[in-house]
Amino acid sequence: MGYFAGIDIGSTAIKIVIVDEAEEIIAYRISPTGSHFHRNTLEALTSLLIQTGIERKEILYITSTGYGRKLFKEADETLSEITANAIGARRLGRAHGTVRTIINIGGQDSKVILLDDDGHVENFVMNDKCAAGTGRFLEMVARNLEIEVDEMGEYHLNARGVPLSINSTCTVFAESEVISLLANGHDRGEIVAGIHYSIARRIVRLAKRIGVRDTVLFDGGTAMNKGLVVAMEDELMREVVVPDVPQITTAFGAALAAREAFIAEERNVHV
Ligand code: ADP
Repeated sequence: MGYFAGIDIGSTAIKIVIVDEAEEIIAYRISPTGSHFHRNTLEALTSLLIQTGIERKEILYITSTGYGRKLFKEADETLSEITANAIGARRLGRAHGTVRTIINIGGQDSKVILLDDDGHVENFVMNDKCAAGTGRFLEMVARNLEIEVDEMGEYHLNARGVPLSINSTCTVFAESEVISLLANGHDRGEIVAGIHYSIARRIVRLAKRIGVRDTVLFDGGTAMNKGLVVAMEDELMREVVVPDVPQITTAFGAALAAREAFIAEERNVHV
């Protein structure tokens, strides 16, 4: 039995997915990227292999993707995160229809990818210039509110009143706005919900530049935040599909690509 690994080295988290020959997910791991990209990726892979009892030699092909993909020299190939995300999202969203739009909000950037009927990337837009509208921004707000980023969804859904309107479009000003809203006695849930709507509005504006087609899949680590999902659906005025583990879509796509590449190389060797 052979296995294939997709490794997504993101700005915030390293995601590794191992699939088998039937393209089933056998195991995955999410760990912080830190500043030692290469060392931390190797450690994450080693831990996952120990956890699953799979030997390194049983991993027949590794495809790396994401921000730090080129630093992981042990990979057999590298793939852009746009392509890997498209492959993974298409497959994970399959039960809900044909995914034609992907909204991805990661730690340091956000992007919208448009797919054609065959699942190929037709167009995409990306915001990697401004921290507002990214996972980092959510982490900063959580810190200011003295809550955890994984609690933000609950705070939003249990907000006392309506989402507050956050007017600042820059993270630094938004930070002071959040602090002054707190100082004025506003409920944390109302503030969090306001932040979620401001992020959702921003990405929906970006999406409208290239058009939005059904089915829409929302992924990246931030899609674990149920409040942000609600805000996204409200702003888009349609439902979005969120995979069970939305943070690993791109790594899963890379693992599927690894399997394809291995089969193609084997075929070439035998002709
Ligand atoms: P990247 O690929 O850029 O490393 P990810 O897609 O891994 O980014 O997303 C990282 C972001 O996901 C973090 O900045 C954080 O805002 C968000 N996040 C991570 N874990 C959770 C969680 N349990 N609940 C809500 N949001 C989360």
